[in-house]
Formats: sequence, C-alpha cells, structure tokens
Amino acid sequence: MFWITLVIGLAGAAVALALAGRRVLFLARIAKSGQPDPERVLQVKRDPKADIEGQVTEVLGQRKLLKWTVAGAAHAAVMWAFFLLATVYGEAAVQLLFGLEAHIPFLQTWGPIGFVQDTIALACAAGLAVFVAIRVKNSPKRIGRKSRFKGSHLSGAWITLFMIFNVIWTMFFFRGVEVARGNFGYNKAAYFSHLTGNLFEGIESDKTLEILESVGLLAHIGVALIFLVFVVNSKHLHIFLAPLNVMFKRRPDGLGAAMPMMSGGKPLDFEEADPDEDTFGRGKIEDFTWKGFLDMATCTECGRCQSQCPAWNTGKPLSPKMVILELRDHALAKAPYFTASEEEREKFTDEQKLAMQVDKELVAEDGVIHPDVLWSCTNCGACVEQCPVDIEHIDHILDMRRFQVMIESSFPSEAGVMLKNLENKGNPWGMSEMKRLEWIEELDFEVEVADEKLPEDTEYLFWVGCAGALEDRAKKTTKAVAELLHIAGVKFAVLGPMEACTGDPARRLGMEFVFQMLGQQNVETLNEMGAKKIVATCPHCFNTLANEYPQIGGNYEVVHHTQLLAHLVEEGKLTPVAPIEENITYHDPCFLGRHNKVYKQPRDIMATVPGVKTQEMHRHKDRGFCCGAGGARMWMEERIGKRINTERVDEALETNPDTVSTACPFCLVMLGDAINEKKNEGAAKETLEVVDVSQLLIRSIKGEKEPVPAE
Ligand code: SF4
Ligand code: SF4
Repeated sequence: MFWITLVIGLAGAAVALALAGRRVLFLARIAKSGQPDPERVLQVKRDPKADIEGQVTEVLGQRKLLKWTVAGAAHAAVMWAFFLLATVYGEAAVQLLFGLEAHIPFLQTWGPIGFVQDTIALACAAGLAVFVAIRVKNSPKRIGRKSRFKGSHLSGAWITLFMIFNVIWTMFFFRGVEVARGNFGYNKAAYFSHLTGNLFEGIESDKTLEILESVGLLAHIGVALIFLVFVVNSKHLHIFLAPLNVMFKRRPDGLGAAMPMMSGGKPLDFEEADPDEDTFGRGKIEDFTWKGFLDMATCTECGRCQSQCPAWNTGKPLSPKMVILELRDHALAKAPYFTASEEEREKFTDEQKLAMQVDKELVAEDGVIHPDVLWSCTNCGACVEQCPVDIEHIDHILDMRRFQVMIESSFPSEAGVMLKNLENKGNPWGMSEMKRLEWIEELDFEVEVADEKLPEDTEYLFWVGCAGALEDRAKKTTKAVAELLHIAGVKFAVLGPMEACTGDPARRLGMEFVFQMLGQQNVETLNEMGAKKIVATCPHCFNTLANEYPQIGGNYEVVHHTQLLAHLVEEGKLTPVAPIEENITYHDPCFLGRHNKVYKQPRDIMATVPGVKTQEMHRHKDRGFCCGAGGARMWMEERIGKRINTERVDEALETNPDTVSTACPFCLVMLGDAINEKKNEGAAKETLEVVDVSQLLIRSIKGEKEPVPAE
C-alpha cells in the first residue's frame, strides 16, 4: 500500500508542479518585459519599516478587508487557514514519503497544534459558508449592476470555494481514519478530528482502514495540487502576489500625488523627450511597467473598488475593476507576441496575431478600454482606498490619458478650452490675472499682496487658487478664511496676480506638459518669494502644492485651511459664540479626505460652533462619495448616466439638512448646482444652502444670524 500511495502521490505532484511551473514562467516573462520602475524597488531599501508595517497590517492583519466586517472576518479566517493548514500539508508529505505511521516529532504530536489546526479549519469552513451567502445575496443575476461581482469571473470564484472546501473535508477525513486506526499523533485537543474518528468506529479491519487512510491522504494532497494549478491560472493568484503588490505599492497608499511621467524608469524630461523613443504614458499594453502587470495579476475580482466608484454608481461605463481585468485579459492574450523575439514574431500567422489581439488598440471605441471609460474617472481615489491588495487604478488611468492627450490629441473637446486658458492666462476660466485681486477690495481690512519677497513676519502664504480668486461662490470661502486669519492675528500674504493655476486640472486630464509649465513657474515664484508655510483653501491646490511640487523642486509646509482654522480654534485664537441652530451634513472632498486623510478637522470646527447638529451621510470619510469635479471632470460635460453631483445631493437630502457643508471650492460649485436643480424641482427646501465650514465659523464668530447664501 505504501509504495502504491507513494508512486501515485509523487507522480501527481510532478505533473502538477510541471504545469504550475510552466504558468509561473509565462507570468514571469510578462512581468520581466514590463517597463522598469526602479523607484519601487528603491523605496523598499529606503524604508524597511514601512515595508514590514505593510505586510503586518495589510497582509497578515487584513486591515482593508476588515473594514467590511463580515466579509473581512470570513476572508481573515480563510487566509489564516491557508497559513496554518500548511502544517497539515507538511505532515501529509511526511506520511506520504515515510509511511502512514510516520510523525514529525512535536509538530505532529503536541496537542495545542492539533487544536489550532482543527479550529482554523472549522473557521475556514464557516468563512466559506459566509462567502457563499455573500455571493448568493450579491449575485449579479439578482441585483444586476449594483452587485460588486458584476463583470467578475464568477465560475472561477465558485471553483475556488469548492476547492477550499475540498481541502477541509479531506483533511478531516484522513485524520478521522487515523483516529479510528490509532495512528493519529495528537491527543483529544484535536477535538474535531477525534469527533470525525467516530464515523469510522464500526470498521474493524485494519487493512480497510489503511486503504481509507491512504485514499484520504492522496485526496488531501491531490486537492492541493489541483488547486495549485488552478490558482496560478486564475484570479486566485493573489494569494501569492498580494504580499508583493503591497510591498511595492506607491507609498504611502497610492493616493495624493499623481505619478510623474516616466519613461524607461526615469522621469520624462520634456526638453529632451522624443515621442518615437520615449514612452508617453501608456499607448499599448507593452508600455506598462512590471508593477502595472503585477497589479493586473493580483486583482482578486472582489469588486470593492467598483462598489465605491462614483462613475459606476451613476450608470457610467467605468468600473475600476473592469479596467484592471480588461487590461489583464489583453496582456495575457498579447503576451505570447510581445514577449517573443523579432524572429519569432515574424513566424506568427495572421490568425495567431488576431487571437493575440496584436492590432487591438489600447484606448478606442473597439479597443481594450473605451474612451468613455477613460474620461469618466474623477480621480476620486475610492478604488485605490478600498482595494485590499493595493492596486493603483488612478496611476494606470492617468497614464492612458497622458498618451491620449499628448500623443493622440484625443480628449473631450470641452477640456480643450480649459487647457488653452491655462496656457494663455494661467487659470481655467481664461480671466485676466488682475481679477485675482478683486476679492481683496471687498474686505474692510488690508491684505498683504507680495510682489518680490514675502515680508519677514509672514507666517503663511495664503494660496488663494483660481476658483478662490475668480469664482463667486468660492470667493466667499476666500474672504471668510482671510477674515478669520485676520481676527486670529495670523500674518499672511497672497501672491495676487503672480499666482497661477497649480496645474492640477491639466495634470489630471493627462496634459503633463502644461502641468510642468505652470508648476515650474509657480515653484520659481514661491522659491523666490521665500515661501515656507502655505495655507490653501482648495484641496486640489493643497494636494498639488504639498505632494506634487516636491517632484519639481518645490518643498513647502502646506496646510489646508480647515487644519489651520481647527488649530486656531483649539488655541483659543478663534472663538465661535453665536449659535447656529441648524442640521448640517458635511461632504468630504476627495482630495482633502481620501487623498490626504483630513477628515477630522472640518468636523472639529463644526463641533465647536454652538447649536450645530451634524449628521453624516450614508457614505462619508474614506467611503465618501465624489462631487464629480475631480480628474478635470469639472471641465467636461457629463453626458452618461445620472449626474454625480445630483446623486451626492440626493444622499445629502436623506439627512434632511438645513445646510450642506464642505471644504472645497469645486464641491461647493458642484453641490450648489445640484441643490439649485433640486430646488427647481421642489425636491429641496428653498433655504437649503451649501457652504464652506469656514463660512459657518465666521458666522458664529461674528454673530451673523442669517445663513450666508451660496447663490
Ligand atoms: S478614481 Fe474614483 S472615479 Fe476613478 S475609477 Fe477610481 S473610484 Fe472610479
Ligand atoms: S482592483 Fe482591488 S478592489 Fe478592485 S476588484 Fe481588484 S482586488 Fe478588488
């Protein structure tokens, strides 16, 4: 019996390992063919502490998965079973090689180990039951587009669950027979194995039990081998790749700064760049870096990103999950071609090339990614924030946009006006630079407008931003913040006409050249002025100044106005006194919240205003829902599906607010427009307004009773 078992076991292992190995080599060839990305490797060397933290919290601690409590707990049970039940496979291998009676001393005899193995196996089985329930409840057949599994490969997921179930029952089967046969290493601490042993109590023939034990052992090993081959050919590959993807993610979390444009592993120098030689974004699948391919291979198809995406939730064709899956399917189809040598390529027939999607465009109506998908993204970061394996969707979307804009000149025509205005006038509306001073004339105190060097006693340079200086609703925030700083005695100065757009809308559209131009101009101005500390009211400006200007030589201490105001209130330099008896719901701007983790301070400010009653919307903080303006969407028409700002205001209305507050000029405009529409439809009360939290604060400090109208 021993020899038969051994031969079957070893032959099965040899076949499975050969098949799995072949697939792994194929995948490794794809990754190796990707563009270099040395930063990813270097960052690990630079900060091993962050690397270890990532593995401990994200991989072992399942931090992101546990945000979804039930599904997260089920996944944690299955993942820990994967680690801990490896010891059972160790035991099985020893018994296969050295006979059923062989036991690894201590490992296969110490009761507590048997207890842990049995318990985690049962927890895993419970986790599987939860997964089945979740999949049935969220079946795309049942709830259609609302299902996070819509578009995922469903059969693969069911096979995975079935295979894990097989691992569990075969384990208990062969351990149960061992108990009945009397050669089980653990004492009663392995309680469930002993319980299973009762099933075989009536079998008295040792020969029969020996055969059953051998069959159980082979079944347990066989399931693992078949599963291994399946895993490397399926989305379940993430069990091996997730730790790598977490290790090589863009620190700290793939949000905040946009990636610089890279070519051949180096930032692209526009003065030297050659479109024939250099990679301008991603124009074909081969242009992706190895990390891009790793992202594609790691996706678990869980659909958490899709469930949070504002574009998907409002009926647009963009699903961040589908972007990754479509890129992955295309990469796998085309890989035999792009990993082949020139000589080999010439030998491919036309049919083979068709099957390999050699001529399929990356972004086109009949391409891998439809242009409507690409241009629907608001860069809100909900996908990146949610992804349990740290896939960086925005970087890929942005890189594909860069190619479309800079090489193909193909982008929504409305955005072209914004780009021209940025190039010619330094702001998206094309207004005169002198208009940047007009808000100051409406104040009853002096504001320092710097023209060469900032005065010595300047504590903060107030970065007003284009909207803050030129857009009527946002100007109210600018004036409120200026007045609050004045009341608190903070010495600040503004740049007035010397300020230009930070370049955020150009960069997020994909026009890196205009971003670089504006960014370098601003960095030069700021450095010449001697700016060190900057306060910005616009989260987009805040993000660009704080996180992106260091890429082009601008290093400043940047705060958002809500952070500074909350600090001034805490220090007692600003004291809200007059009550504002209103129900207020706060909308988190994506570039303040998710991209920069400022959730607390705007809420702290509102909490200090007497009378204010706050109620959170259903989606808030890291699960907040975009207003629809980011990713340069502010300057594009929204023709498909429900308007994102309308969806967000519908959510706000569910809290029956007197006021909606926020902390971003773009959110102010988007939500204000949607509220006005709702008022016209009679769906919102006439007095409902959207205001910046600074406006609430100044009202309370100055004792103004009436709400500040948002127009
Ligand atoms: S960044 Fe936002 S809009 Fe873009 S794909 Fe991700 S979730 Fe969707
Ligand atoms: S990209 Fe991330 S969140 Fe989205 S389906 Fe894949 S693993 Fe899940």
